[in-house]
Amino acid sequence: MDKNIPYKTYLEESEMPKAWYNVRADMKNKPAPLLNPATHKPMTADELSAVFCDELVAQELDNENAYIDIPQEILDFYKMYRPSPLVRAYCLEKALDTPAKIYYKFEGNNTSGSHKLNSAIAQAYYAKKQGLKGVTTETGAGQWGTALSMACAYLGLDCKVFMVKVSYEQKPFRREVMRTYGASVTPSPSETTEVGRKILAEHPGTTGSLGCAISEAVEVATHTEGYRYVLGSVLNQVLLHQSIIGLESKAAFDKLGVKPDIIIGCAGGGSNLGGLISPFMGEKLRGEADYRIIAVEPASCPSFTRGRYAYDFCDTGKVCPLAKMYTLGSGFIPSANHAGGLRYHGMSSTLSQLYDDKLMEARSVEQTSVFAAAQQFARIEGILPAPESSHAIRAAIDEAMKCKETGEEKTILFGLTGTGYFDMVAYQKFNDGEMTDYIPTDEELEKSFAGLPKIG
Ligand SMILES: *Cc1c(COP(=O)(O)O)cnc(C)c1O
Repeated sequence: MDKNIPYKTYLEESEMPKAWYNVRADMKNKPAPLLNPATHKPMTADELSAVFCDELVAQELDNENAYIDIPQEILDFYKMYRPSPLVRAYCLEKALDTPAKIYYKFEGNNTSGSHKLNSAIAQAYYAKKQGLKGVTTETGAGQWGTALSMACAYLGLDCKVFMVKVSYEQKPFRREVMRTYGASVTPSPSETTEVGRKILAEHPGTTGSLGCAISEAVEVATHTEGYRYVLGSVLNQVLLHQSIIGLESKAAFDKLGVKPDIIIGCAGGGSNLGGLISPFMGEKLRGEADYRIIAVEPASCPSFTRGRYAYDFCDTGKVCPLAKMYTLGSGFIPSANHAGGLRYHGMSSTLSQLYDDKLMEARSVEQTSVFAAAQQFARIEGILPAPESSHAIRAAIDEAMKCKETGEEKTILFGLTGTGYFDMVAYQKFNDGEMTDYIPTDEELEKSFAGLPKIG
């Protein structure tokens, strides 16, 4: 062990970040604005406030303020499970026999089991402050719905979750956690909304997708007095809240006197990665430091590595604003891979712009190699990782092995976004040797790109 580097580094309460960092303030090329799907004009705050809470709309549109104070009530909630530890993966380094120094920021230390609680509490807080009765949302794998249910229970808000039908059926325990926290959970597509009935009529027997569930949740929010819609990833406001991950990591590294060379995160809609990298990216944008930043996505849903940078619909029902992002097309339904949190067709517009400006890299990895990394990590470091997080583990191990070849002592930081206890069907498939690596063909992607809206 390095003499001065402990196995785990926690911040003291007095060292905890008191403001979120908004990386957009330091971006020369700002992320493209959301567009009204009917007029193709940028969405105004007024239009957005029909769907989202007022303060969250302000955060969504704020490209100027670098720091936004975290309200005391949210800081108090964060104290229940934060700071999260920055862990030096000494056991993994030893097992790989690499000169690389590997660190991970562990976000799975709360009941919801992932980083999503960082934004759930913020969004629920602003809804409560606005005097709303409740919020609606969608959930795929279930982590976001669980996190939001916890936050709403804490604040006494009603929570209506549309859960992608296939997950609803395959993950009954996730559903029960949400219900235990008081949320109502509806399998999507459902007969309870107009858009749900339309999707069911067009695709009878469909097991749903995130895009369908979003359309249903938005419809209920905009048609029910005292409700707004909240989203667990993709949006600028979510990246802002998740900056707590990066700010804590940066503060812990500064305390240790260490600077990472490579920062790695899995990318679904981009919120954990965006949050983890934000203060480091800020330094890079201001020319104060340089870092290699790597987004890791599934080969079955490769938005960055094979997608188009274009305006697209965020949902299947096409009721949401248009976002400019790396996208596979809103009609793209990824094969049944086991990283539910990484199955979204698009990507955060902030990260999309940073990637387009070549300020970060992306790579895709295949499912079985991800689970091999997950199993290796579980056996060596003890934590049973979520399949999503294991994409970052895969890339971190690969980078550490490159260091072994070259003899370079690089410092690697990766985001360990959550635990995988509700993903044991996936682990079972892997353990039984029944897991497959489906990769979409160019023809399939072209077909989906053909459905992109024509803008400008
Ligand atoms: C949702 C989720 C992700 C992916 O979402 P991002 O917004 O890209 O961070 C990654 N890991 C876990 C554990 C998740 O629950």
